[in-house]
Amino acid sequence: MIPQFNTNEIAEISTLVNQSKMVVITTHHKPDGDAMGSSMALYEFLTSLGIETHVVLPSDYPDFLLWMTKGQQVHTYDINAAKCVELMLKANTIFCLDFNEATRVEKLTESLMQSKAKRIMIDHHLEPVNFCDYTLSYPTAGSTAELVFHFVQALDSNYKISKYAASCLYAGVMTDTGSFRFSSTTGDTHRMIAKLIDCGVVPNEIYEAIFDNYSEQRTRFLGYCLKEKMVVFPQYNAAYMAITKDELKQYNHQTGDTEGIVNYALGIKGIKMAAFFCEHDTIIKISFRSKGKFSVKELAASHFNGGGHQNAAGGKSMDSLADTIAKFESLLKQYESALLQT
Ligand code: 5GP
Ligand code: MN
Repeated sequence: MIPQFNTNEIAEISTLVNQSKMVVITTHHKPDGDAMGSSMALYEFLTSLGIETHVVLPSDYPDFLLWMTKGQQVHTYDINAAKCVELMLKANTIFCLDFNEATRVEKLTESLMQSKAKRIMIDHHLEPVNFCDYTLSYPTAGSTAELVFHFVQALDSNYKISKYAASCLYAGVMTDTGSFRFSSTTGDTHRMIAKLIDCGVVPNEIYEAIFDNYSEQRTRFLGYCLKEKMVVFPQYNAAYMAITKDELKQYNHQTGDTEGIVNYALGIKGIKMAAFFCEHDTIIKISFRSKGKFSVKELAASHFNGGGHQNAAGGKSMDSLADTIAKFESLLKQYESALLQT
């Protein structure tokens, strides 16, 4: 899709940004390829306008995305919390990329909301919360990277995207569209991708950097999850995997290692919904995926303090892993007809 931005809004945002002494770009906790890719591409654009810009991240991000920040300065709450808060409070404008509710920046929520900066959301998650001065929300877009691609051109039609920024955007689209296979992938997506390739992107380089870059431990962990941990409920067209803290430790878990594993359960013939539960120190983090009409966004939002998209959502639970799974299993019964219909 091509977002139909409101011309007046774009003009106002342009003025706002150009008059800002300092701009902050932030994104959701545990940023993924789309969150990092869209942030770094927007960072390069704003910097090219001569505007002091800082990327402020609520947490670390996977090693396979490190190339995006190589040679660029980013600030991470886990590393320097005080600096991140200071930048949030000092900014005149804050871009909120790839998230639709303030709490998604976790420990940065307070400073994000306390800041006197104007907030601009650019996002593609369903049902945005009203916490920004400008809400550029397009849930039919496959990625925030696509929106940022069109946004920078709306602000400056002569802007020439560098190979670096184009690579960041390409990675964002690629990861959020499941390598261009989800239903959100349209002709417009591919036309945009063609333009990024014209800017110098080498697709196989990006693919390899992201998908052929796992540690040996992570690949063995994947095998363990599939062989030992997958539970399938053919009667509900559903499957899940649940991993304990100790298992993560045993496989020397690094940020990003669990990403994508849930999709293997969804790949089983007949399975319409899959979940991946991961026990951390104080919370259970959950990834949901579905095929077709079954909305995991609704499931995550109604029962697991989460949200996301119809076919890809996430949530969390403060209960024990066993209780969280028991709750999930009881919900399968409740959602039985929806699961069997789709
Ligand atoms: P993942 O399973 O890859 O972590 O997330 C899938 C989708 O759900 C992403 O679009 C992500 O932004 C969203 N999501 C993941 N966790 C949460 C959460 O705790 N709350 C909300 N609102 N969305 C989430
Ligand atoms: Mn996204």
